[in-house]
Amino acid sequence: MLIILTLLTLLFMSTTTTKAESRKFTLAPLPYPYNALEPEISEETLRYHHDKHHAGYVAKLNSLIAGTPYEMMSLEEIVTKSDGAIFNNAAQVWNHNFYFATLSPKPNLKPEGALLEAIVSEYGSVENLKREMNEAAVNLFGSGWVWLVENKDGKLSIMSGKNADTPLRYGMHPLLTIDVWEHAYYIDYRNARADAVKAIWNKIDWRKVEERYRIPHK
Ligand code: MN
Repeated sequence: MLIILTLLTLLFMSTTTTKAESRKFTLAPLPYPYNALEPEISEETLRYHHDKHHAGYVAKLNSLIAGTPYEMMSLEEIVTKSDGAIFNNAAQVWNHNFYFATLSPKPNLKPEGALLEAIVSEYGSVENLKREMNEAAVNLFGSGWVWLVENKDGKLSIMSGKNADTPLRYGMHPLLTIDVWEHAYYIDYRNARADAVKAIWNKIDWRKVEERYRIPHK
C-alpha cells in the first residue's frame, strides 16, 4: 500500500512539475470525429487542416517563443502583443481553435433571441448577413478569414482579415469566422471558394455563436 501511495505521489509530482515548467502550447483536439462534418467538409480535409496545418502553427509557435518573454504569456496575450512570425503563428493557432469550435456535426442552423434581433436590425435578415459574408469571403484576395464581430460600440460588423489577421488585435469581440485559406477547402472544392463558403453554413452552430454573443466583453 505504502509503495503504491509513494508511486502515486511521485507520479503526481512529476506531472505537476512538467506542467509548471512547460509553457508550450498544445494542439487542441478536434471537438468531433474527422468524418463528422461530411459531406460539406471531408475527412481528408479535416485531417490535413487540423493535423497538418493547425498542428504546424502550434509547433512553429512553440519553437519561435522558446527562450523569449512570450513563453510566459497566454495565447491571447501573444496575439495582441506580438508581430511578425510570432504573431502570424499565434493568431493562426487562436483562429483555428475558434473556427473548429464554431462548427458542429449537429448544428443549430438558425440564430435566436438577442443575437437574431441584432442581426435583423443590422443586416435585415440572417440570409442577408450570410450573403454579405459570402461576398466578403469570395472577394478576399489571397488567404485570410472573414469574421462576424461585435465592434467596440456594440454593433455587429463583418471583418475581412488577410492572412492571420484577427479581431482580437482591434479589441473587437469575435462571434464566428470562415477560414478562406485554400487549405480549408481545396481538396473538396478545388478553386470553387464560393461553393465552399456557401456549404459551410450547414455546419456552423449558431448555439455557439449565441454563447459568445452573451459573454460579457466590454
Ligand atoms: Mn485553416
